[in-house]
Amino acid sequence: MRAVSLRAPREIIVEEVENPIAGPGQVVLDVERVGLCGTDVELFSGEIDDLPDWRFPQRLGHEWCGRVVSVGEGVDASWIGRRATADTMLGCGVCARCLGGRQHVCDNRSEIGLIRWPGALAEQLAVPATALLALPDSVDSEAGALVEPGGNAMRAVRGAGLASGDRLLVIGTGAIAMLSGLIARAAGAEVHLLGREPSSLEFAATMGFAGVWGPGSDGHAGHGELPRLPWDAVIDASNGDSVPARAVDLVEPGKRVVFIGLSTTPSLVDTRQIALKDVTVVGVLSASGGLAAAIEHYASGLVDPRPLVGATVGLDQVADVLAGWRPSGSGRTGVGTGPKILVDPRR
Ligand SMILES: [Zn+2]
Ligand SMILES: [Zn+2]
Repeated sequence: MRAVSLRAPREIIVEEVENPIAGPGQVVLDVERVGLCGTDVELFSGEIDDLPDWRFPQRLGHEWCGRVVSVGEGVDASWIGRRATADTMLGCGVCARCLGGRQHVCDNRSEIGLIRWPGALAEQLAVPATALLALPDSVDSEAGALVEPGGNAMRAVRGAGLASGDRLLVIGTGAIAMLSGLIARAAGAEVHLLGREPSSLEFAATMGFAGVWGPGSDGHAGHGELPRLPWDAVIDASNGDSVPARAVDLVEPGKRVVFIGLSTTPSLVDTRQIALKDVTVVGVLSASGGLAAAIEHYASGLVDPRPLVGATVGLDQVADVLAGWRPSGSGRTGVGTGPKILVDPRR
């Protein structure tokens, strides 16, 4: 089969490799769609080089869906033919964290497409059956590839502890930011987005949020400076190192701030501010506990993630997309700050 391999920073090849075989407890899927995200860009560019146990070569691709084509020993054969995605976080299964339902923070975990497990940028992928989540037909392949960012967004919105009618500020314009906004709006929140780049803000403005705000003073037409409103929660889904401190600064006293974005440099917060304002701070790593709810939201139509998709390309275009090239009509913004670029490995 054909598969992508990131051999070194900025060095991606598409290679012919053996098809995976479903080992005991595993299934093999034909990959339908894979999303590229800001993390992939930062791994490609070498900006992130401190992931624990990260090493080259690595096959990227942690936002995906596919159809099960074979099962290994001990796996229910009724999986064959079903469409599914899987939890990226694969814990060791035997430590106290894994046994307590926190496999996403297991010290010995693998992560599909990131750590010690090949990703979905290939025609086929093998994963443990225990990590699978079935996709109903109402979740098509585009929405299926957006279940992973949707699960992250779901956990971020849960962390924000919103009541209906609450006012939420989401900082960032990537898929997790947008999906957090869509999920919170579906729950009755008044959602505002704060972004940076004009083209990302234009894209965010098409989602119909109550407000889309920019830096304000530097001529970004149509997107003024953030108004001084009481924010019942702030979700930082950006990668700016000064944003977490600003989020704590902006939020109403006694309310909540959620940190899901990661900068590549330390992002410091003065804890005196958190204590003096009596703010609850929530950190979120991974989609794990939000995947099932993301699938339900997509299946029921409560949230439609498909307007986030800008274009679909083949494996041969992955390197160009990660380096900043955009198919025509998919917007000018970078991966991670605008429309999603999906990959169809059979294209
Ligand atoms: Zn991602
Ligand atoms: Zn474990």
